[in-house]
Amino acid sequence: MTTQVLLEVKDLKRHFDLGKNQTLKAVDGISFDIYQGETFGLVGESGCGKSTAGRTIMGLYTSTDGEVKYNGSNVHAMGEKERYNFLRNMQMIFQDPYASLNPRSTVFEIIAEPMEVHGLHKKKESMQRRVYQLLEDVGLNRDHANRYPHEFSGGQRQRIGIARALALDPDFIIADEPISALDVSVQAQVVKLLQKLQKEKGLTYLFIAHDLSMVKYISDRIGVMYLGHMVELTTSDELYANPLHPYTQALLSAIPIPDPDIEESRERILLQGELPSPINPPSGCVFRTRCAHAMDVCAQRKPAWKEQEPGHFVACHLYQ
Ligand code: SF4
Repeated sequence: MTTQVLLEVKDLKRHFDLGKNQTLKAVDGISFDIYQGETFGLVGESGCGKSTAGRTIMGLYTSTDGEVKYNGSNVHAMGEKERYNFLRNMQMIFQDPYASLNPRSTVFEIIAEPMEVHGLHKKKESMQRRVYQLLEDVGLNRDHANRYPHEFSGGQRQRIGIARALALDPDFIIADEPISALDVSVQAQVVKLLQKLQKEKGLTYLFIAHDLSMVKYISDRIGVMYLGHMVELTTSDELYANPLHPYTQALLSAIPIPDPDIEESRERILLQGELPSPINPPSGCVFRTRCAHAMDVCAQRKPAWKEQEPGHFVACHLYQ
């Protein structure tokens, strides 16, 4: 990892107009940078806006406000040619590989398609070599090329999705809950594969997840989102050793510990109630309806985003 910023996200908002004067504030002003070669984990319960953030960063959604810069260029103001190049450099891996792979295409066709669209490897032998190489890169082999997605396990299908994402030789990959649908043992294998590929190809990842268990092993830094807002951001080690925000503390306490003695005696912080609707979020701190530490000021004022320790940011009145 270097300290060169590859992606800058500044006060990014993505709202959806639902009609009848209702607005869903899926992402409501988040800011962070991602450095070249790092893995940035973006974590929060479903409905917190993390996947919408990923899609808006990639330009699949327009932004309502704020800015995303990739290598210094504004993603939402690119001309056609610039966007074409940008989409070669930034690829996405999805949660459900089965839904994202065409069931009527062979693995060869699936992996070759993005290269055909971009006019690469026009000669048959060259394309064949490239597809076989990509299959090997992700731990599959050439014998898999002529099979169809339904002939594979969930973990193998995710490997096919990864091979497809690598086809254009990108620099940056947004992995949107890439392991959530897989068994725990398979999750670890896919995480290891992503780490290996990062080393070999110098990739930068935005890794989106709904809990903190696996993210710890892959992320250099982690941002925690709640109801469209970023509530805490720091290095992975610091977040696990010294979580500041009450929401992060609750998420961490929900991770099971493999030792049965510790697991039985440790304290869990149970979150009260359900995630409120982003159509009608609580005033002040959006977490206040579920926070055991809520004070009067929490309903009146939105907590500022503050650097509590160098590189450790938190938005909570307990630290202001
Ligand atoms: Fe809890 Fe208040 Fe901090 Fe929000 S600002 S997390 S309600 S203590």
